[in-house]
Amino acid sequence: MQYPIYLDHNATTPVDPRVLETMLPYFTQHFGNAASRTHVFGLKAEDAVAHARQQLADLLGASPVELVFTGGATESINLALKGVFEANQHRGNHIITVQTEHKAVLDVCEHLAQLGADITYLQPDADGLITPEQVTAAMTPATVLVSVMWANNETGTIQPIAAIAERVHDQGALFHTDATQAVGKLPIDLGQTKIDLLSLSGHKLYAPKGIGALYVRKKTPLIAQQDGGRHERGRRSGTLNVPGIVALGKAAELAQAAMATEAPRLAVLRDRLERGILAHFPDVRINGSQMHRLPNTTNLAFPNVDGEALLMSLNEIAVSNGSACTAASTDPSHVLKALGLSDDLAYASVRFSLGRHTTEADIDKAIQHVISVVEQRSVSLLK
Ligand SMILES: *Cc1c(COP(=O)(O)O)cnc(C)c1O
Repeated sequence: MQYPIYLDHNATTPVDPRVLETMLPYFTQHFGNAASRTHVFGLKAEDAVAHARQQLADLLGASPVELVFTGGATESINLALKGVFEANQHRGNHIITVQTEHKAVLDVCEHLAQLGADITYLQPDADGLITPEQVTAAMTPATVLVSVMWANNETGTIQPIAAIAERVHDQGALFHTDATQAVGKLPIDLGQTKIDLLSLSGHKLYAPKGIGALYVRKKTPLIAQQDGGRHERGRRSGTLNVPGIVALGKAAELAQAAMATEAPRLAVLRDRLERGILAHFPDVRINGSQMHRLPNTTNLAFPNVDGEALLMSLNEIAVSNGSACTAASTDPSHVLKALGLSDDLAYASVRFSLGRHTTEADIDKAIQHVISVVEQRSVSLLK
């Protein structure tokens, strides 16, 4: 069997061979516990973690002490939202987020609502964007936290994060961003923003699954959600995943070195894909903002096509409908619904997300495949 062309990098990325090579010795040769200060095994691991922390800090424009390694973005988001809520209970119980967030944020908010939090879910415009004014208008004296994702995993829509963070911070609340899709794709300089907390994941960045990080600005009140051993300055206990951390550091370094050339390269390929499909099907719609968008992502709605049949038939390319992270859900995408799409159009929408190994030849094959499948699957309006 020939493998399909992989165009689902927003779901996960392959581990970069250079990342794998860098992490491998930390399974066998340098297997020490980074907390073992009494011998060279531990010191070697501790050094490797310090180096990786610096590599990640450099990518983010953060200080190494502001980074907490976690088991992935879901854990980082849980720690950020629950940890801030718990630490600020005396100040208020109001949290603001957006309808188009990842389930990792929405489900945590639901959990906090059970514990007495009052949650406001902002509605984006038809392009998926929210404005800083919309956020400030929703703030009350009880608002302790605002969480807005940097770039959407389904549509690629990029929010005006720096402006939102500034407003929120200046009004006395904390600001968290789920930057899982932004890190490594967009330039980020946390020293120049008022973002208080930022979540990220290794496996969206050519590092393995099961490693991530939370950025916590110095002096941000946060209560640990996992106790025992006081690792990571007491913010996340548990023996450090040294190979994963080494991998994340290397992946950060590679992303930083490649970003200036990789982002325009991907945008050219993504635009080629879009043009190829739209030239053939002029009524195809691009979901989300075209102006404020990740370079690697396009989400296309195919009117008058049976969405389920479409996805089933696109077997020469690996793409998705909605989020892989809404595991096993057959509901239409909550993100596309929030943008105002009908159920039918949300089902008939396909996300293409390109990555480091995507070539022009891949894109040309994908265009031909999509054209032939959609032609077979189109339902005549007159029928
Ligand atoms: C993948 C993803 C997550 C979850 O990350 P994990 O490391 O798999 O827990 C959260 N938010 C966004 C936007 C994502 O794309």
